[in-house]
Amino acid sequence: MSPMTIEERLALNKYDVDTEAHIRLNENICQECQPRICLYICPAECFKLRDGRLSFAYEGCLECGSCHVCCDKGAIDWSYPRGGFGVAFEYG
Ligand code: SF4
Ligand code: SF4
Repeated sequence: MSPMTIEERLALNKYDVDTEAHIRLNENICQECQPRICLYICPAECFKLRDGRLSFAYEGCLECGSCHVCCDKGAIDWSYPRGGFGVAFEYG
């Protein structure tokens, strides 16, 4: 049996998504940022470029904290989701 791909592993996670975002970006800072390292660092691909603008979706967040650590512009207001919300890792 071949090992599972990252995409297959991510598909096993369950998410109880809060209506309140647990991560917020300062869009003015992000708009001016280069090279936008968050685009390359997030394992869940929550950060994307759309028509040259950064878009962010917190719903698929794995709560790893990498974006907060790596953003060198201080543009990320980061916290864990409120109690009971967020990702549940099913099979590692
Ligand atoms: S690295 Fe930080 S400032 Fe730059 S685009 Fe990403 S979140 Fe915004
Ligand atoms: S905490 Fe991790 S998974 Fe969530 S948005 Fe940041 S880098 Fe992506």
